[in-house]
Amino acid sequence: MIPLPAAGREQVRRAAVDLLCRDRRSVVLMVALNALAATAGLAGPWLLGDIVDAVAAGRATASAVDRAALAILLCTVAQIVLARSALSTGYRFGERTAARVRERFLDRVLGFPAAVAERVPAGDLAVRGTSDVSAVATTLRDALPEVLIAAGQALFVLVAVFFVSPLLGVIGVLCLSGAAVATRWYLRRAPDAYLAEQAAGSALADELTATLTGARTVETLGLAERRLASGRAAIERAYRARRRTLALRTVFFPAVDVSYVVPVVAVLLVGGMLHTRGDMSLGAVAAAALYLRQLAAPLDAILVWLEQLQSSGASFARLEGLATLPLVSPPASARPPGGDQIEVRGARYAYDGGRDVLRGVDLTVRPGERLAVVGPSGAGKSTLGRLLAGVDRPRAGAVTVGGVPIADLPPGLLRRQVVLVTQEHHVFRGTLRDNLILAAEAPDRQLWRALAVVGADWAAELPDGLDTLLGGDGVVLDGACAQQLSLARVVLADPHTLVLDEATALLDPAQARATERALAAVLQERTVIAIAHRLQTAHDADRVAVMDAGRLVELGTHDDLVAAGGTYAALWRTWHGFTRPGGAGDA
Ligand code: ADP
Repeated sequence: MIPLPAAGREQVRRAAVDLLCRDRRSVVLMVALNALAATAGLAGPWLLGDIVDAVAAGRATASAVDRAALAILLCTVAQIVLARSALSTGYRFGERTAARVRERFLDRVLGFPAAVAERVPAGDLAVRGTSDVSAVATTLRDALPEVLIAAGQALFVLVAVFFVSPLLGVIGVLCLSGAAVATRWYLRRAPDAYLAEQAAGSALADELTATLTGARTVETLGLAERRLASGRAAIERAYRARRRTLALRTVFFPAVDVSYVVPVVAVLLVGGMLHTRGDMSLGAVAAAALYLRQLAAPLDAILVWLEQLQSSGASFARLEGLATLPLVSPPASARPPGGDQIEVRGARYAYDGGRDVLRGVDLTVRPGERLAVVGPSGAGKSTLGRLLAGVDRPRAGAVTVGGVPIADLPPGLLRRQVVLVTQEHHVFRGTLRDNLILAAEAPDRQLWRALAVVGADWAAELPDGLDTLLGGDGVVLDGACAQQLSLARVVLADPHTLVLDEATALLDPAQARATERALAAVLQERTVIAIAHRLQTAHDADRVAVMDAGRLVELGTHDDLVAAGGTYAALWRTWHGFTRPGGAGDA
């Protein structure tokens, strides 16, 4: 299993800046609109302070008060309109950026080489693809516009307090330092705590996925108690991780709530004293206190988002972490192969940096031949099959078709050369046509012909023909039909070589004959490399390659190898013994 990493802070910061830069114009527009809205919002308390001073000095006329009231109304309307435009620009930016995050996730997952995709924890990947993506998307959509609005308001309100009275401004800012200390304390602890919470959530999902996918094994070996115990332990770890973030929040929020009130109280006290001594007007004290009171709302919004950003920041780190896994390297050569011959030269392969499971294999596959690969379990047959089909590339040595490394071929060109046929017959949610043209775009006439080649008569009876929806809410195909569908894809791809691995090994006997017939039709006029699980396949092949402990130990016709009396001859004798009447069938 390859654990999925989380990105470091620097990588997350760079990725976030990159996302912002991709939509620079929206970000600039958002900041400008927010600044204008905040400026308009400042006018209210300012004008109110003027009115208070004028009334206190006994020089206020009714028309002056009316004019000031009208100005306050106009400023409020302007603030609402500007704030709304800022918000809608922000939401549009957020939705576009969220779509980018989703696309990036898909690109990365689809870019995993098959060897990586098969070995990453499915539960963790599913959590990253669903809750992490949607946490980041929601935050991108809502957080930036709302934080910008709030930050703009807070900044302008503070500037306004300084404008009214620098002394009261200093007092206000000093008294806010309590909130700054609480925030610093929280930010030091929150990122790791949220990463741990989400990792524990993913581990729990993995635990449940493993139990569900292995339900048969759990039942047969009576592992229910053990799985329950490990499930409970995973729940306990997730619970503890959540309690840790909850504890941080229960300290942080009350602390900052209290610290909003302190500046207002201090300004009223000091301002009141200054006013009684005649050093400050009542209007200035009232305006400063009103401004500081106004500060609570934007600061509260920022802090709520700060908390939300910790959790979605951890989600973002988990999504960006996927970028550190190896991707399918871009094809080094798009040069079309100069022939159909497949050559393996000194090929070595190791899984996940472990020991070599292929230890220098040399093999030439002759165009048009039927080559069976046999050997004990774990000898490296399937691994060789994957290298021959270009699914994986050798760690050292080369696997080429027509002189070009197979794994370097772009998918479209690769499919025309070699295709690996396995037990896996995935039916994608979509129409029958979509399922078929995965292999190659083709007119309907050709799609029907491919279905006919593999004997998929059931297709003609589907309600909407090629437009019939398969999987999910649509028509669900049984195993044999799914197998025929995947063989029809092979017919459409039309490769000159097929690698068969377990293609017929575990067939349901009731369906075996139909599938065998379909397979036989597909094999015609192609080179076939069959990873043989039954030695009958080897007996019927043109040549047999015998693998043992990662090496090719024998190569020749069945008769030659039996006559040579080596490994194959021993395997054949054992198997033949087993297949005499009353014996078992598999090698
Ligand atoms: P065969 O097909 O002859 O049974 P394989 O090619 O499947 O042999 O396996 C060769 C060796 O590689 C075995 O030791 C097996 O345990 C190891 N191996 C196969 N697949 C993986 C994998 N996905 N991850 C790690 N090791 C693997």
